[in-house]
Amino acid sequence: MTTANNPTIARWVSPAVRAMHAYQRQPTTVAYAGLTKLDAMENPYAMPAELQRQWREALQTVALNRYPDPSCADLAATLRQTCALADAYGLVLGNGSDELLLLLALLLGGRDRTFIAPTPTFVMYQQLSIATGTRFVGIPLRADFSLDETAMLTAIDELEPACIFLANPNNPTGNYFAAAGIAAIIERAPGVVVVDEAYFAFGGRTVVDDLARHANVMVLRTLSKEGLAGLRLGMLIAHPDWCDELEKIRLPYNINTLTQLSATFYLRHYAVMQQQVRQICDERARLYAAMRALPDLTVYPSETNFLLFRVANADRIFTKLQTHGLLIKNLHPPNEPNHPLTNCLRVTIGTPPENNQFLTALMTIV
Ligand SMILES: *Cc1c(COP(=O)(O)O)cnc(C)c1O
Repeated sequence: MTTANNPTIARWVSPAVRAMHAYQRQPTTVAYAGLTKLDAMENPYAMPAELQRQWREALQTVALNRYPDPSCADLAATLRQTCALADAYGLVLGNGSDELLLLLALLLGGRDRTFIAPTPTFVMYQQLSIATGTRFVGIPLRADFSLDETAMLTAIDELEPACIFLANPNNPTGNYFAAAGIAAIIERAPGVVVVDEAYFAFGGRTVVDDLARHANVMVLRTLSKEGLAGLRLGMLIAHPDWCDELEKIRLPYNINTLTQLSATFYLRHYAVMQQQVRQICDERARLYAAMRALPDLTVYPSETNFLLFRVANADRIFTKLQTHGLLIKNLHPPNEPNHPLTNCLRVTIGTPPENNQFLTALMTIV
């Protein structure tokens, strides 16, 4: 049934939301069953068997008939310790950092508000702006995907954004923005600057140390890319006053008991995840070097667990890779010839055998 057939939807759901497409509607597990999954920036490694056994044992103590601890006391303390987070900073936990982005949009958005972000970037910033009736303006990155500082500062002065989203490193381009550009944006912004450090583990740079000097800067982190995507746990680090405001609109039990226990457990064995992250970074270097040697292909440097690359015909290569048993991400926009991601594909770094499978297939196809 289309919206046109349902006058109640047409009357009450905003035109902006009706025009949206749901994020990743395709259930990859069904539609792409059996393919090597290099599309979603997941950590390809399983936890060691002995750790998994201890984790399952710990799960047996969970009382599912009871509500979770709304303050997530154990988990928050463990996170603070793992991230060496100063007590002066506040912490808000979310069901993935996606949920924290939603809370920010609810807190700061609305009909007469504007959010901006350099684009192309993580699509949730725009999706959540639309969902909350907030105007979203994307400020194009330069052709090499670096930050256009002048364009950003002009947009800030003209649009007075309530919130600026900076994914750093950026998804899907993989690069860091220049620190001087970020600093200039923070100085000029009349509202909040959210620095989304989803890929912090793979690059290591952070603005957390600047939080003490800038009351309106927030940092987002997630455990998804490091190995716990299925758990859904993100965190927002900010001045405690901002956290107090966010806590008012956070659902009290957004972090379920299984997530609280499991994340606390695995964070206490964080060295295991760090070791896996190092392997992923080594493989990233190997894959990057091998792809640079391929003809008719441009691969972009990356500080994340994925590589962005441009080919002559992204649709063809995306489809061909599937016949070789591989699922990556096709970023080529169908009807926008001058889009910065024209003929771009994104591959997540897998295990060495998975990466070899990808490289062999790519060499055959390109
Ligand atoms: C993956 C990603 C997120 C979302 O992470 P979750 O914690 O899994 O919701 C947020 N921001 C960026 C830039 C990402 O790439």
